[in-house]
Amino acid sequence: GPSVVWFRDDLRLADNPALRAALDRDEPVIGLYVLDEESSGIRPLGEAARWWLHHSLTSLGERLRERGGALVLRRGPADRVVRETVSDAAAGAVFWNRRYGGPEREADAGLKSALRADSVEVSSFAASLLFEPWTVRTGAGTPFSVFTPFWRACLALPAPRAPLAEPREIAGPGRTPASDSLGDWALLPTRPDWAGGLRETWEPGEPAARRRLQEFLRDDLAQYDRARDEPGAGATSLLSPRLRWGELSPHTVWHETVEAGAGGRFLSELGWREFAWHVLFHHPDLARRNLRPEFDAFPWPRLQPTHLDAWQRGRTGVALVDAGMKQLWHTGYMHNRVRMVAASFLVKNLLIDWRRGEEWFWDTLVDADAANNPFNWQWVAGSGADAAPYFRIFNPQLQARKFDPDGHYVREWAPEHLGEDSPEPIVDLGETRKAALDAYEHVKRAA
Ligand code: FAD
Repeated sequence: GPSVVWFRDDLRLADNPALRAALDRDEPVIGLYVLDEESSGIRPLGEAARWWLHHSLTSLGERLRERGGALVLRRGPADRVVRETVSDAAAGAVFWNRRYGGPEREADAGLKSALRADSVEVSSFAASLLFEPWTVRTGAGTPFSVFTPFWRACLALPAPRAPLAEPREIAGPGRTPASDSLGDWALLPTRPDWAGGLRETWEPGEPAARRRLQEFLRDDLAQYDRARDEPGAGATSLLSPRLRWGELSPHTVWHETVEAGAGGRFLSELGWREFAWHVLFHHPDLARRNLRPEFDAFPWPRLQPTHLDAWQRGRTGVALVDAGMKQLWHTGYMHNRVRMVAASFLVKNLLIDWRRGEEWFWDTLVDADAANNPFNWQWVAGSGADAAPYFRIFNPQLQARKFDPDGHYVREWAPEHLGEDSPEPIVDLGETRKAALDAYEHVKRAA
């Protein structure tokens, strides 16, 4: 019978080992995507992510159909829905690319045994990471908790495999199993439609992702090392949502970057993505629990909702923070340097728990990533793996002077800060810095 390819965080045809395995089986191929908002432990997608998913699935479905294939959309708990689809299609095999989150791995393992018990062939593949988490170990056989030796160990392993070519033809099934229509999933915002800025900024889908990679390698890679920290320079790849949704594989990015020459610094940023997933794999509750448990003793003051609200809306009175939070709200993206400054301001000047910030980013980022987001929040908060030392508190005004010296970025996103009566910070930066350092004393005592 037909082969089912269960697409998850790999919405692409090129370099897709699960799809390749299905094609090699010489039976009709059915693509499947399951919107699972029910299985326990699976974190529901944020709003910006749902917007991206809608468009990326539209693109994937078109591309499969153009080649003769099909994409079936189903909603519900994945363990039930995948088995139903297999039985509706009388499929003989199911292929997928592996996921690395705790609940996802459990679900996949359970499904694998259930399908095999039904005599369905099942295989899973490495496709979303260059180095699967369990393949990278310290000399003592333990996971890594510091980036530099982690990445050195990765680079000492055999180089990532070459990407697989994109299939030209895909034999579809004679009869396609019933599919939901994407519109019924209501992934797009309607009232109000806040996605105008996202539409202006992004084109989801594999073809646009590939074009962006080419453009970045041709126009921006050479200035990446020098300008990557300047939010106004436009020097970074903007590949994060494409990697998040798997419209591009990291293998493709890796190999094309190496062919384009140099790029060590850029490749090491891909390394941070690998590291965040390595850490999540070994600490599945990364979004909820401090990696360094002494941070549980941090005396968070009572939440000031007006402060959280001002931060979310970009009304803190601090230029770089406001610019970043407005870029985020408008486009679903924020430059990395500004993410660090805005996150630091929330945690160390407003003294709001990093988890509130992580949740907001989860909801508003188009690249909201189950590993990268909590990993980086914990990095900023000082509670994470290889984190910034807590006492090194960013001064957002100095950061702006250093990384946005001509004010390009602030002018674009928060021009109100450049006029005569620019807003005042809602908290005193010096006093709050001192309060944060005092609070940190509790953590030190708990260590
Ligand atoms: P480039 O500089 O071109 O980097 C290339 C790729 O490397 C990125 O696309 C990304 O996949 C990876 N990468 C770069 N920096 C990091 C990093 N620090 N950690 C992990 N991977 C990295 N990135 C996400 O993809 N999803 C998130 O949800 C996310 N949340 C973040 C939250 C905070 C508080 C901070 C400080 C950073 C967060 N990042 C997140 C990391 C980083 O800001 C983005 O990956 C980056 O800004 C994306 O832009 P780019 O693709 O142009 O990056």
